[in-house]
Amino acid sequence: MHPLAKLDHAHVWHPFTQMRDWLKREPVVIVAGKGTVLRDVCGREYLDANASIWTNLHGHGHPKINAAIRRQLGKIAHSSALGLANEPASALAAKLVQAANHQSVGRASSRAGLIVPKQSIDGLSVASPHLNKVFFSDNGSTALEVALKLAYEFTRRSRGPGSRSAGRGQVKPRFLSLEGAYHGDTVGAVSLGHIDLFHKSYSGLLFKTDQVMAPYCYRCPFNRARPERADAREYRRCNWECTGLVETKFRAQKRKGNSYAAFVFEPLIQGAAGMIPQPSGWLRRVTDIARSHGALLIADEVMTGFGRTGLPHSTLNPQASTSLFACGHEGVRPDFLCLAKGLTGGYLPMAATLTTQRIFDAFLGEYGEFKTFFHGHSYAANQLGAAAALASLDILLGKQSTNARQALEKNLHRELQTLWALPNVGDIRQVGLMAGIELVRDWRTRQPFALRERAGIRVCEAMAKRGVLTRPVGNVIVLMPPYCTTATQSHKIVSVLRDATMEVFGPR
Ligand code: PMP
Repeated sequence: MHPLAKLDHAHVWHPFTQMRDWLKREPVVIVAGKGTVLRDVCGREYLDANASIWTNLHGHGHPKINAAIRRQLGKIAHSSALGLANEPASALAAKLVQAANHQSVGRASSRAGLIVPKQSIDGLSVASPHLNKVFFSDNGSTALEVALKLAYEFTRRSRGPGSRSAGRGQVKPRFLSLEGAYHGDTVGAVSLGHIDLFHKSYSGLLFKTDQVMAPYCYRCPFNRARPERADAREYRRCNWECTGLVETKFRAQKRKGNSYAAFVFEPLIQGAAGMIPQPSGWLRRVTDIARSHGALLIADEVMTGFGRTGLPHSTLNPQASTSLFACGHEGVRPDFLCLAKGLTGGYLPMAATLTTQRIFDAFLGEYGEFKTFFHGHSYAANQLGAAAALASLDILLGKQSTNARQALEKNLHRELQTLWALPNVGDIRQVGLMAGIELVRDWRTRQPFALRERAGIRVCEAMAKRGVLTRPVGNVIVLMPPYCTTATQSHKIVSVLRDATMEVFGPR
């Protein structure tokens, strides 16, 4: 075993990993990366088919991001955001505001019948931004914690004391999230989650949140269609019962005298739930329902942000065509937009929670009123991260990246069609530049593998042997390569998945 692998085995405890299994085999020790290729300490090369757990956008070792970090390093690596502003974080906040509001220019102004002056900076035009405040933190979980705390406190302050029955004190603001939700691993984020495998053991630590049906068309009890060799969203036969249940949930909560404070969701596709995409129009419908009941909208775009959801799959908002965020695809304007993972192009741990002037104003007051948002992290607004994020956004807004993303979306789609020939592939769900391939015992019955059979893990292990790295979510294989992935590399990723599936389950 390589000495570095031995050190790992001796001391490193890996996340979401059964360490007994880990210690049975020599780990892959990564030492370098270029584009989609990762190289290990023994000189073996692998394709990074899940963009290093969904973080990397433009490939490893991108010259522009490398240069931006070096330039920043020549000035300063980090100074505190508690009491100080800094150069790249100020610039980044402004750019994020432009990018996040870009989607809603046409819709918001034309709906209100207003003509609003537009600024145009770096190809993004923004008219009086809806999301105009940025709170920086370190990772996806903290981005959600920030939104959660702000929404909680905003609701408490705006509803006032005794918002239900007199004498019982104030009713706690309550949150609604989706079945299968995953929003991170800190205690607040876990409270919003509904994956028993990850969350149940901590129930004693958590606060109670409610869940509502998410549209999992492939396994939906309301979908009367028999399995076909196509994405279940395309052939589903239902009457949108899932959105009816959302309406019912909001109504029932209102009757209890404590309407939901906020609705928390991943837009267009839920990642850790099993790469579960929403049929076109679902997002718009349910967020309209939530709004009509006075709930704030918390969009978790930790996975979906920064172009990952590709070109719009909906005609609901033609003006959204260049939105970098999933919400923009259906013209949804959240009150909180949570970003992390791809924010720095996959280079450094940094996150941002964008919110509105209305939320911000609720925290203004004389010092002695103690309305301050008492929350913050030592590395908030870190300069190296902000410099990387600025460079990443620049790349993302360039024509070359747009072309690369369009090509990757098409290449992935073309390659994925070949997997329908496999009897153990039940559903192939692609949203933009990512896909989930659900493995089943037999596609005709949709019968799932039991989790303890480790079907997804075994297929990913067989893929690694063939030079392609990814991690499953249960029985779902995730493909989410960097945007620079070539047609040849996409071909290899999908061919290796096919071969690995046949090795594990037999050709049949
Ligand atoms: N939200 C979503 C949708 C995620 O996919 C993740 C991470 N997989 C998180 C939040 C948490 O992000 P982090 O791991 O950076 O804390």
